[in-house]
Amino acid sequence: MGASFERYSVVGMAVDPIHVGTGGARLGRVDQSIVRDPVTRVPKIPGSSFAGVYRAYCAMHHELKASREVNGKRKPYYPDCAGQGQPGKQGKGGHCGKPDCPICIVFGFARGTGGGFTGLAAFSDAHILLFPVATREGPVWITCPGAMRLVSIELPDVAEGTVYRAADGLPLNLGWLLLPVRGYIEGQDPRPHLAELEIPEFIREHSAVVSDKLFSHIVNSNLEVRTSVAINPETGAAEDGALFTYEALPRSTVFLWEVICKNPKHFKVGDAALKVENPKEVFDVVTKAHPYLECLGIGGMGTRGMGRLRVLATDKRQSSASENAPGGA
Ligand SMILES: [Zn+2]
Repeated sequence: MGASFERYSVVGMAVDPIHVGTGGARLGRVDQSIVRDPVTRVPKIPGSSFAGVYRAYCAMHHELKASREVNGKRKPYYPDCAGQGQPGKQGKGGHCGKPDCPICIVFGFARGTGGGFTGLAAFSDAHILLFPVATREGPVWITCPGAMRLVSIELPDVAEGTVYRAADGLPLNLGWLLLPVRGYIEGQDPRPHLAELEIPEFIREHSAVVSDKLFSHIVNSNLEVRTSVAINPETGAAEDGALFTYEALPRSTVFLWEVICKNPKHFKVGDAALKVENPKEVFDVVTKAHPYLECLGIGGMGTRGMGRLRVLATDKRQSSASENAPGGA
């Protein structure tokens, strides 16, 4: 049967500013704030947002592929499997829930012969691995021991209020904060690890390490805050008093998220075994969304040129022991 699941990591870089909102408007200093980790206060992209966009983009991919097979005629292929999957009033529509549908099997479905299925792929939140800050030397991408731990790399603890870089240097401003600069202590240089993750060289060579606490502080004080105007769809004009502000993670922020791919051999839909064979094939279905993520993006404000995310690298991180089976269907 093999391992019950495999974990894959995905490293991606924001090509546009990214706004994944909390849904609640007018909280705090800005009208539309972004989602944060409740403990560290560092912004993140929730895994639930990923599950939705991955599903939609994978469905687009499969529909495109299938439509080529019918003499260039664009026939709907599992047409209702992309969305939320609630059937209409007559019980028609919704997810197909068929064991040979890669979308329903990988992302789950809300109904069907077996009464619903959670899907073979699960998405973690995307955490910030490297965050760009304006300095007098140009942009510097900061990371911290907590962020590097996401990629299973243990950096030594660092002193508060200090920036660690390749060599000692003059104090450096990270946004508004002027901080002393020290050379990396032993085992602290993140650059070889970042190279393994296929982080672009320019970002690696302009990286710096700060403490977890300072990282959270600097990220939160260097988010983009934009002002926009709500447009009345009927008149096409700005609404009265409709000026609002929203936060976004800046362009070139580097994120890491994980996709947990369950072993299809451990699942059945109805009486049929699944057509996807192993966790690797589950991940192959998932990665079909990546080109779309770079074109169409994630999160809100897409019409304002936001949200595109370029995948830099994917990597298999871990297989489970067979006995540690995660929850079934
Ligand atoms: Zn389906």
